[in-house]
Amino acid sequence: MQIFKKKEALVASLSELKKENKQIGFVPTMGALHQGHLSLLEKSRKDNHISIVTIFVNPTQFNKVEDLEKYPKTIENDLNMLSDIACDIVFIPSVDEIYTDAIRSKNYSFGGIENQMEGKYRKGHFDGVATIIQLFFDIIQPHRAYFGEKDYQQLQVVTKLSQQENLGVKIIGCPIHREKDGLAMSSRNARLSLEQRNASPLIYQTLKRVCDLTKSHQIDDINNFVKAQFNSNNLLTLEYFTIANQDTLQEASSFKKGETYRAFIAVNAGNVRLIDNISLPTSR
Ligand code: AMP
Repeated sequence: MQIFKKKEALVASLSELKKENKQIGFVPTMGALHQGHLSLLEKSRKDNHISIVTIFVNPTQFNKVEDLEKYPKTIENDLNMLSDIACDIVFIPSVDEIYTDAIRSKNYSFGGIENQMEGKYRKGHFDGVATIIQLFFDIIQPHRAYFGEKDYQQLQVVTKLSQQENLGVKIIGCPIHREKDGLAMSSRNARLSLEQRNASPLIYQTLKRVCDLTKSHQIDDINNFVKAQFNSNNLLTLEYFTIANQDTLQEASSFKKGETYRAFIAVNAGNVRLIDNISLPTSR
């Protein structure tokens, strides 16, 4: 496994590989790796000759200083995990290596999908995400890039980014990996207290219940059900629950025949923010 900290050295190495017509798969991460991240890498390894993982906690996508400062960092463990599954290349740049002028996002517009949910509750988040992904695509110029459905809205935004800016990268979505009790794997889970961790499976239990309710209830009733689930829990606070059209990500107020919906949720356990989502059944 080759480890690069400087982009010039990485670009030189990648250009040799491209001369040999190697297909390059890219998995961007912020580190504190878990099985969810590794599943993206496994998919990339199947599809490509060479897989590259970046570990970079991107400052421009955080809207709260505390969240950025407390973001878990486990670099030694991350490198061991990546070397154990024979990752080809890891790129771990410093912030200055990436943001050479100023630590600032570009402004993007993605036709509205960036304004709901995470975009509404984390102002500027998707500008930060799109900025860093475009910078990395520019350096790496991969054939394919892998993103988890855990961050479904991000997956949609990055898909639009690649199309709109003609970046020529195929974006591939990968399913959500969960703990045995259903909690979506996340680097932030490490920050939960034991009590909060024990309470957190309620998030996925609620989403599964929403799937059942979809068959017989209207969206208003489902929204009320979800609110009640969290009102009666003093460890988890509901930030938002939204049923949205899976493609436009516009919030739905009623189910329409022939459309596909997904339910999205954000919950705070103390100052740890957890998100999850689920595809809703189409037969209603
Ligand atoms: P992060 O390090 O949190 O920025 O995540 C890096 C990539 O891993 C993103 O594309 C995430 O959507 C994906 N990811 C994070 N958690 C999971 C999970 N539990 N299952 C699948 N993919 C995930």
